[in-house]
Parts: sequence; structure tokens; C-alpha cells
Amino acid sequence: MEMEKQKSSRIVLVPCPFQGHINPMFELASLLYSKGFSITFAHSQFNFPNPSNHPCFSFLPIPHDLSQFQASSSNFIALLLALNDNIAMPLREILVHQQQQNDEILCIIYDSIMYKVAEVANNLKLPSIILETSSASLFWTYAAFNRLESEGYFPLKDSIAEDFVPGLDPLRFKDLPIFNFPNVDDLLHLIKTTSDIRTSSAIIWNTTECLEQPILEKLKQHYQIPCFPVGPMHKYIKNIISPTSLTTEDRNCIMWLDKQVAKSVLYVSIGSLASITEREVTEIAWGLVNSNQHFLWVIRSGSITGRESKSVFHEKSLKEAIEKRGYIVEWAPQKEVLGHFAIGGFWSHCGWNSTLESICEGVPLICRPCFGDQKMNSRYVSYVWKVGIVLENELERGEIERVVRKLMVSEEGQEIRQRAMDLKLEIEKSVAENGSSYKCLDDLVKFLLSL
Ligand code: UDP
Repeated sequence: MEMEKQKSSRIVLVPCPFQGHINPMFELASLLYSKGFSITFAHSQFNFPNPSNHPCFSFLPIPHDLSQFQASSSNFIALLLALNDNIAMPLREILVHQQQQNDEILCIIYDSIMYKVAEVANNLKLPSIILETSSASLFWTYAAFNRLESEGYFPLKDSIAEDFVPGLDPLRFKDLPIFNFPNVDDLLHLIKTTSDIRTSSAIIWNTTECLEQPILEKLKQHYQIPCFPVGPMHKYIKNIISPTSLTTEDRNCIMWLDKQVAKSVLYVSIGSLASITEREVTEIAWGLVNSNQHFLWVIRSGSITGRESKSVFHEKSLKEAIEKRGYIVEWAPQKEVLGHFAIGGFWSHCGWNSTLESICEGVPLICRPCFGDQKMNSRYVSYVWKVGIVLENELERGEIERVVRKLMVSEEGQEIRQRAMDLKLEIEKSVAENGSSYKCLDDLVKFLLSL
């Protein structure tokens, strides 16, 4: 009887069209589908995975015109604001049309960044639920911004960079997403808007109590609506080959990894949006080569500022050294890579997905955050969970060599790896039957059925 009701219960999901947001939304879709719900994606027309790879879900493209924007970190905030302004009307129209076809909608789940969706849902008298694809700590930080502003901390001054943020311990001002951010007013506007939960009736988090229990508790008190920390969601999904990548995954690197010694390879990636300069790439290359460790390095097209060409390295000796010890791809099957026996460390920009994916496999990190929540995640990795080392200051080959060796072959690195393995076990418990995330997922299903 209950199954009957679930089968006829259609949930509309509205993702934010960037890789780090699309992945967790698809993971949630797969989980809810496995619980009997029907899934429709209402999605932006750019940056979206091929619907034909997902025959179990329905897709409703939202017409809009964002042709003046390109998906890059430099105009990211402006793009997100414009995206929200552009989708509200057409989303409303396609949902009304859907309802007129007698396709009943149970509720709308939207990425917290797609804040205009709440208005559309409210207008159509549909319940809406937020999916937060970053950490709970980020949301808690956002919630504190009005207070910090009224206490006179903004604009943030360099002189307080190292100070702890009142009420946000262990974060320092320099860990906040707005520290040294170029278009800080736009960012503050986005932060205030996303942390206002408006008429939404619940929040789903891609996190787990064993990572963020104290913050989750504060958030529940603060927002007074049901909170479901069901993550890390990818851990429930058996098939780790991800059809949600916007770039083709180069699977040859798995064959290369198969030939390496256990825990001997450093995986290097800065995610889907961050970029670094050509000078930094050269310093990283020399640092990696001089460390004498093997490495698998993702160099995305567009990830080197001002350079599209793939031929990055010109010095013959450097090229030869890289060929000897390293393997470079444009896009890796990251979850599979991190779960591979040969991986012993992850040099990461500390996007929330990458952080979770690494911790879930017991892989310790070298944190080199670039912007947004990455600095906060890096702080948690190194200072709270103690499963990584932060690489600070200007990138320089000697320092890189030292940090890589420290993580991969030193005694201290071994201790960090052991803590990462311990945390992996904790996370496995939380998604196993009777674990905290597992129970939250059950509660979420009950909540959805009660709407
Ligand atoms: N990713 C991948 N292959 C790569 C690099 C990244 O599949 O070569 C995936 C990664 O597994 C993660 C997502 O892209 O799920 C990146 O999200 P994250 O939050 O780490 O960073 P963002 O790209 O949003 O900065």
C-alpha cells in the first residue's frame, strides 16, 4: 500500500548547473528513486549531463538565456545571481504545464544556491526542500554573517586574518569565503539569500554526524525545521562509474594505477572550477618530480589561467621526468581513483565533494584551497579531523617537495593516514544499517511520504 503511494509520488529536483552541485543532486535522485519515488530534473540548459545516460529519470529543460556568461570562477557569482533571476518564470511555467498534464508533484528539492525555486514552489503551493551540497559548517557560517556584519567586522581587514571568528571557532577570518574575495558585495548578497531558508520545509545535507555533529545540532536549533544529514550520499551507491561528469573521464589512468605499488601515488586535482597560473603549474610539476613520488595529475582544459593549449611543459628534462613518474589526464573517474589501492594521498583544492570522497576512502590530503568554502574545508581537514596538511603561501617547488614527502613517506604522514583510515571506518558505520545517516535517510523518506 505504502509502495503504491510512493510510486505515484513525483519529486522535482532543481540542481545548480556545476559539477560539484550536479553530482550530489544525482546521488540524491538515485537514492530517492531506489526508495520508490519518481524523479524529474528541472534543469538549466547549460552544463548539464546527457539525459539519455539516465533513463530512470525524467528531464524538463528550463529555457533561459545566459549566453553572455561563461562558466568560470571569475564570473561565478554573477552567473549564479543571473541564473536565479532567469529561471523563476520559465520554471513556474513548465511546472504549471506539468501539473495540467495531471502529473502530480509531491515536492520540489532544490540546491540551496537556486534560491528562487522556493518562491516558485510557494507560489504553486508545493512544499520545497533544500539540498545543501556543501558542508553544514558553511551553512552555519553563512547564518552568522548578519551578526558579524552588525558587529562591525565587514569589510574584513587583513589585520584580523589570523584571529578566530567569534562564534565560529575553529575558523579564522582568513578561512571565510569572503576573505580577499574580489566582488564581495555580490557574494554577500548571495550568501544572505541562500542562508535564508524562506518557506522551505526541511534541509537535506550531504554530510554526516561523525564529521559535523556539533554544527548540525546548532543548525537544527537555529532553523527549527527538520534537518536530514544523509551523506556522504555516494557511499550508498554501488556503481561508482559516474555518468554525471560533464567532461569525458579518461579511464586509462586506472590501468596505469593498476601497475603501481599500494599507496604510492599522489592524486592531484583542483576540481571543476578552480584555476592556477602557468608559473604555479611549473612549480607543482617540479615539486612533484623532485619528491620522487608517483602522481596522477588532472590538468583540466581551462584550469591554467590564460592558457587553453594542452602542451603545458616546455622544458625537455621536466617533460621526461613527468613521463617517468607521473600520469596526466584531463578528467579522471575521481571516486574510482580515490578508492584504488595505489592511491596514497590527494592534493586537493578541498571542494566539499572531493573532501568527502577522499575521507570516505581513507585517503589523506594535501590541502591547497583556492576560493569559496574550500578554505573552511581545508581548515576542518587539517585542524579538526587532522587528516591532511595545508600547503600555504606562494607555491614553490622546494616547499611542495617537502610537503609531498611528508604526507607520502614520513612517520607524521603515516599518522595522518591512520587517522584518515579511522575516519573512513566511522563514515562506513554512519551509512550502514542503523548508522546516523542511514537512519536520517529513512526519516527523510517518511517525511516525504507525510507531505
Ligand atoms: N571530479 C571528477 N574528475 C576529476 C575532477 C573532479 O569526477 O578529474 C569530480 C569529483 O569527484 C567531485 C566533483 O568533480 O565529485 C568536484 O566537486 P568538488 O566539490 O570537489 O569541487 P568543485 O569542482 O565544485 O570546485
